[in-house]
This record gives sequence, structure tokens and C-alpha cells, in this order.
Amino acid sequence: MTAAVSPRALRRVVIVGGGTAGWMTAAPLAQLLCGPTGAPGCEVVLVESDQIGTIGVGEATLPTLRQFNQALGVDEAHFLSHTKATFKLGIEFKDWGHLGNRFFHGFGDFGPPIEGRSAYIQWLRLHRAGGMPPLESWSVASVMARQHRFVPPSGDRPSPSNAYGHAYHFDAGLYAAYLRDVATRHGAQRMEGTIVDVEVDGTTGFVQAIRLADGRRVEGDLFIDCSGLRALLIEGVMKAGFDDWSAMLPCNSAQAVPSERAGPLLPFTVSAAKSAGWTWRIPLQHRTGNGHVYSSGFTSDDAAAAALLDGLDSAAIGEPRTIRFTTGMRRKSWVRNVVAIGLSAGFLEPLESTSIHLILDAVGRLIHLLPDRDCQPALAAEFNRKTAIQFEAVRDFIILHYKLTQRTDTEFWRYCAAMPVPPALAEQIELFRATGRVSVRDPDGFLEPSWLSIYEGHGVWPTSFDPLAHRVPEAPLRQHFARLQQAIAQMVASMPQHADTVAHWAAAGAAR
Ligand code: FAD
Repeated sequence: MTAAVSPRALRRVVIVGGGTAGWMTAAPLAQLLCGPTGAPGCEVVLVESDQIGTIGVGEATLPTLRQFNQALGVDEAHFLSHTKATFKLGIEFKDWGHLGNRFFHGFGDFGPPIEGRSAYIQWLRLHRAGGMPPLESWSVASVMARQHRFVPPSGDRPSPSNAYGHAYHFDAGLYAAYLRDVATRHGAQRMEGTIVDVEVDGTTGFVQAIRLADGRRVEGDLFIDCSGLRALLIEGVMKAGFDDWSAMLPCNSAQAVPSERAGPLLPFTVSAAKSAGWTWRIPLQHRTGNGHVYSSGFTSDDAAAAALLDGLDSAAIGEPRTIRFTTGMRRKSWVRNVVAIGLSAGFLEPLESTSIHLILDAVGRLIHLLPDRDCQPALAAEFNRKTAIQFEAVRDFIILHYKLTQRTDTEFWRYCAAMPVPPALAEQIELFRATGRVSVRDPDGFLEPSWLSIYEGHGVWPTSFDPLAHRVPEAPLRQHFARLQQAIAQMVASMPQHADTVAHWAAAGAAR
């Protein structure tokens, strides 16, 4: 049966750029629009330039990528094998709160609520009374990470065996290529070429077509700008404007270099604070991804590269590459018939691996608000409103990591501790310091356990807490925590090493 199609339905969607954002946009759009159940006659065309290439970083993700892959029908083992991926349980932070400080932000919580009140508050109460192990002991992801163990969560009923989530580390180039195959299988068309000109309709202000260096002209009804930091259409043509957040997130540069695989295969990213920024370490099957994010106002490129190379635990593969960025958000990601997704929509440093998550959320939002050829401004307004809420919530969560520092050893950290932060974040911090309560502004973003990990990791202790916590008698409460801790410890002790699980899955995926 042929689906009924609006006479104004899109005929061609043109995606400008074939980095992670471009192909993450192309695959679900092609699945929806070109597939057998989609609107007949709508093409999805992606234009990418071999000459320009992609940013080539972006290898750590959040658990939402699993659902994204699943919706595309991607087989997890096949994906793992073809993108040289490893599993990720969270991020280990070193030297952030103070030199020598170490904590883990894992995917999952610290145990179920106790009589309707947060498990953290009950833990805090007992901790104050003395004799309580660290909060991380009740995070299954943290316990697994410490022992380098991994199996995917299992079971439907709430239990320690599914009280954690997982994401992946993968090779960014391989993932884009993987998605290109998925997208083209669903009917997306790929064009290689460099865009040199854009035609705009003088009456509507809509983009009509792009022109490539070889003279080809590509018309479209809707243009998705995935051109990365160049923001070719959204800024170059639509002049959407940019909110610069550098004063609150002063890092503006990165050095990136891969190194040879060495040591145990960690199921987590490592983020180590440095004198003017932080380094990442991302374990893949075939290599380790390394980088140093820093502020050029507080250190030089040479010093940053040297600090990166000094910290490697195996031989670098090539020379560090410098990447510049400005932290902030496009004032409007959707203007007329142009929608920006990926780095063209804004940049937030990769401290919590949020960029790819922001991409997949933007793609979901676009599909939800899919326009016809008129691209009604109300759809754009709704898209922009939701994008702003999400970007600002992520921004504030990242700022939190810097703002809470007790480091005073360098000018950079003194700046971060003293810098003004958005009023809403200042209120969230004050609420926690005063009462131990966590306020979450974006219910689809980082939730209470994530905020607790950062507060607790930095050594922030509330001065008072939930008065109802005392309703639960102390002795059974201690028994509850002890039983849960033991159950988690026993379960994790029986799990295979992460390296063995990856090898098993990769072999299975290669055979499919
Ligand atoms: P790009 O990869 O730059 O792709 C742009 C595309 O547009 C390319 O195909 C290019 O050829 C094309 N293009 C541009 N101009 C033209 C033209 N004129 N004609 C034709 N084509 C054109 N994100 C995470 O989620 N996790 C991380 O761990 C992470 N780490 C990062 C580390 C650093 C240092 C940086 C800077 C970013 C990191 N990110 C991370 C962000 C992540 O890299 C990006 O969100 C992701 O790669 C998407 O990039 P993109 O597709 O928007 O842009």
C-alpha cells in the first residue's frame, strides 16, 4: 500500500557534511524517509568533502547511543567489531577536586530509594555517624570499573545486575563509515565534493541549492548543516549568531594523539586534570585515544603537547594535532529551511562525552518535528527552545566540574574556582551545599546520581539534610547497606574481565 503523502511533503533533504553528525543524521532520516514505509519520493542526499575531511575526534559516548543504534537495527556485536569499540561504564576523574583526588562518575545510581527518600541522604546520615565505606561502593558501575570487569546488564526486575548502564568508546572514523553503510542501505545517497556556493531564494530566504567545486548543483527542500565548526549554512548563510560561553568554560584548544594499546583494557574513560585543563584517555581495541583540552590563555600549545606526551603510557602514533574551538551555542539551530546538527550547532568540551549524545537527541527532535517544504517557523521555534534547554543544562553540568575545585596551585584553577557561573547553577550548588538535595533542570539529561558523583567526588558535604531521613532506624539501615554492598561485590567478582568480554563480542561480531 502506498502511504498518502502531503502535497507539500519534503522531496529532498540535503545533509551538508559527512562527519559523525552527518552520518548520524543521514541513517535515521533515510530509514524514515527512503525506507519501504516512508514517504515515497523523498531523497536523503549527503554531501561530504574528502578534501576537507572530518574533525577526527569524538570517541567516547553516553548510554543513549545504544538506543540510537538499536533503533537503526544495528547488531551490537557487529558494531563493536567493526568500530574497534570497547565498553564504557563511566569516567574516572583524577586531580579535579584537589591534587591526588580520584573519583568515578558511573552510569547508574547508588542504590534504590529507601522508604521514598534518596539512598544518598541515608548514606550521608550514616557516614556522618561514622563507619561507612565510600558512596562509590554502592555504584555497581564503579565497582566493576575498579576491577576492570564487564558484562552487559541483564534481567528485567530491579537488581544489582541491571543497576548500571553502558556506553562505548569507538574509533570515530570507523563509526562514521559504519553509519554510512547503514544509511546507504536505508537509501541515503552520498556525494563527494566541496561546497563553494549556496543559492538562496530572494523572497523566502530559504536555501535552494548548494554548488560544488566541480560545478554540480544540489537542490533541496530542507538542508541539515553538519559541516562541523565551519557552520557553513547556519552561520555562513543564515547568520544565526553564537552565544560565547568561554568566560565560564575557558578551555579553547586541544592536542590529540593516538598511542599504541598497552596495559589492561579499561572499561572507562580517564580524565586527569592538568595545570590549565585536562587530558583524556580512551581505550579502544586497537589503540588508545589521548588528548589534552586546555586554555590557551593559561598555557602554550607546546607546553600542552608536552604535558600530553609526558602522560602517555605507550608510544604515541604520530605527532599531536592542535584543534581550536570556541565553547558556546548557536543562538538558533534551525533558521528557515536550515537545521544545524553537530559541531555547527555549538561546542561543549568533551569532558562528559556529550557531543554525540547532543547529536542523536537533535536528530530525534528533528524527526519529531519534521517539517514539510514550508518549514513552519513554529517548528523551528520549538526545536530551538528545546535545544537551548539541553545545551544549557549540559553546559552547567560541565561548569560544575571546574567550579567546585579546591585546587589553587595554578592561575587556571584559581580562575575556575572564582569565576561567575550562570545564576541557575549557582542556585543548584547552594541547594546542595545547604540541604543535600539535587535539582535537575533537564529530565532527559544528567540526573541526580551524576550530580552526586561530582559533588561527592569534589568533597562537597551538605551542611544539613532531609529531616525525614531519621524516620528510618539506624541499625536496619546499616544492615540494608551492608547487604547491598555485599551483593554487589559478589556479583562483580563473578564477572569476566572487560578485555575478555570485548574479545568475545568482537569475535562474534566479526563472524556475522
Ligand atoms: P566534522 O567531523 O568536522 O564533520 C564536518 C563535515 O562537513 C566533514 O565531512 C567535512 O568534510 C564537511 N564539510 C565542511 N565544509 C564543507 C564544504 N565546504 N563542502 C563539503 N563538505 C564540507 N564528542 C563526543 O561525544 N565524545 C568525545 O569523546 C568527544 N571528544 C572530542 C574531543 C575534541 C578535542 C573535540 C574538538 C570534539 C570532541 N567531541 C566529542 C565532539 C565530536 O568530535 C563531534 O561532535 C563529532 O565528531 C561530530 O562532528 P561533526 O560531524 O559535527 O563535524
